[in-house]
Amino acid sequence: MTEENAPLYVTQPMLAPLEEFIPYLEDIWESKWLTNGGKYHAALEAELCRFLGVEHLSLFSNGTLALIVALQNLRITGEVITTPYSFVATAHSLLWNGIKPVFVDIDPHTFTLDPKLIEAAITPQTTAILPVHCYGYPCDVEAIQRVADTYGLRVIYDAAHAFALEQNGRSVLAHGDASILSFHATKVFNTFEGGAIICPDAKQKKRIDYLKNFGFADEVTVVAPGINGKMNEVQAAFGLVQLKHFANAIAARQKVDAHYRAALADIPGITVPATPAVSRPNYSYFSILVDPSFPITRDALFQRFRDRNIVVRRYFYPLITDFPMYRGLPSADPARLPVARRVADSVLCLPIHPHMDENDAARVVEVIREAARS
Ligand SMILES: *Cc1c(COP(=O)(O)O)cnc(C)c1O
Repeated sequence: MTEENAPLYVTQPMLAPLEEFIPYLEDIWESKWLTNGGKYHAALEAELCRFLGVEHLSLFSNGTLALIVALQNLRITGEVITTPYSFVATAHSLLWNGIKPVFVDIDPHTFTLDPKLIEAAITPQTTAILPVHCYGYPCDVEAIQRVADTYGLRVIYDAAHAFALEQNGRSVLAHGDASILSFHATKVFNTFEGGAIICPDAKQKKRIDYLKNFGFADEVTVVAPGINGKMNEVQAAFGLVQLKHFANAIAARQKVDAHYRAALADIPGITVPATPAVSRPNYSYFSILVDPSFPITRDALFQRFRDRNIVVRRYFYPLITDFPMYRGLPSADPARLPVARRVADSVLCLPIHPHMDENDAARVVEVIREAARS
């Protein structure tokens, strides 16, 4: 439990005690092998495949480079249909590839791309769909695949929020032509900074591995204008240590989730989105919507939290389509994105992490209850 007025953050990155990490660091020092496909890199790739129930995974130094390389690998060009309700890196990865993003609105219950709206956004230039699994809610993967199959489009999932997520007993990461993970410090599983591409076959993994290492196929052969996206040994070792504690971390997060759901169920003006329809949840975020009928605005509530040293976050606000490099696009017109607009203007993500206890959760709830009485 944190002290009464100690800062309470939206997440807490350390899942393992420091002592467990030290032997790995000593070994790395001893071996003098710091990066370029070392043994911890290989071990983490293997462990993650096993843990996530996927076959082919390539580690990256961060999720954004993984996104950029996944698009390169599939030679995506022209226009790509995506969501305005995400972290800005989703759309930036398109601009870095010279691709035009085409934004469509989201589903009000899962906050993910509304598959019914995709078809109308397709043009002769469209080559792919870039949906985002949001918080712990998977996209409607079947409906998206149907559209993709009909029009011959690729599907690349930004799965930065979907670590370990399973639906009907199957990894959510197995869908589409590629899925991208982020292991940034704020994510449910982290390697300080880090990321990965999950792809369907060994040939693609090989090409992705070339692309993340300058295009080197061997010491003297460069097969593509690759980039440097390699994960180093310290990050990989940290990931191995963190992974051992992931199940416990999820169990602790589940308790916080249950506390919030019970305590916030009956507050007029606060909507708690339904539990995701998944067979293995990850409790990565806990979002609430502050409706216009609540006595104070979302931003006023946000400030009350901050005043009490509780660092809630407005994920995702502003919308990607509000940023200067996107807002001029026809598909960024707010009139076309009413659901995303409403959610971005009302969402708050509450603290949820394995080092919180009942009292911490109660402290968060009390801020909302107090505001509800005002
Ligand atoms: C965190 C995040 C990213 C970026 O990942 P980094 O590892 O920080 O580069 C991309 N998309 C979404 C949805 C994210 O939440």
